[in-house]
Amino acid sequence: MNAIAAQVSSASVPALPSAEELDRALRDASPAEVIAAALKAVGRDKLALVSSFGTESATLLKVMADVDPAIPVIFLDTGWLFEETLAYRDTLIATLGLKDVRSVKPAEETLSREDPDRELWFSDPDACCRIRKVEPLARALKPFTAWINGRKRFQGNARADIPVVEDDGARLKFNPFANVSREELEAIFVRAKLPRHPLVASGFLSVGCMPCTSRAAEGEDSRAGRWRGRAKTECGIHTMKIS
Ligand code: SF4
Repeated sequence: MNAIAAQVSSASVPALPSAEELDRALRDASPAEVIAAALKAVGRDKLALVSSFGTESATLLKVMADVDPAIPVIFLDTGWLFEETLAYRDTLIATLGLKDVRSVKPAEETLSREDPDRELWFSDPDACCRIRKVEPLARALKPFTAWINGRKRFQGNARADIPVVEDDGARLKFNPFANVSREELEAIFVRAKLPRHPLVASGFLSVGCMPCTSRAAEGEDSRAGRWRGRAKTECGIHTMKIS
């Protein structure tokens, strides 16, 4: 590239702020302000929100829809989800007017090669999450330079110190609910009259894939019912580089 072309090129592509700069600026921002800042930083074509359409997901989706209901939403349909979760996805799309929800499935070829008997969740749950969640998410996130997710610090363990904005090694990652409390989430549900995940009424506080989800007992952490009896607490989409 000659010197003039290099000048034109650098003038036409505004530099993306770093994760550290954005985190500093947004540390005390509201979730809506964080999502608006993500949009401003990269534009709608380069921003996606990843949602499980689980028990708390309606709150983040509501905040996003108030900012811009056309932000692409990626939903990982692992092949092991509860029917109730699929129905809830459709309810929230209609209720919130979500314009671009992309249900992403694992590749059939990978499933038949690596999990032909559908027992990987038992024999090797990390491999199961890799082929059913991490790899499909990596494919779905390819066109995007930033993503939004709904983790909160109050969920403890690996999530206790998450920043509002981080660099996951491949793209910017916005955590608009990092600072939000359980009570604030409940207030959003009530204020916006959001429908609940159908399994909440049967005692599920956190809902993932069927074989790896159980009810949490009274006083337990909301994610205690996930991968019960195993050391595993995360599926990998927040602990691995998604590229
Ligand atoms: Fe497999 Fe369970 Fe992970 Fe779902 S949560 S992908 S069933 S190991």
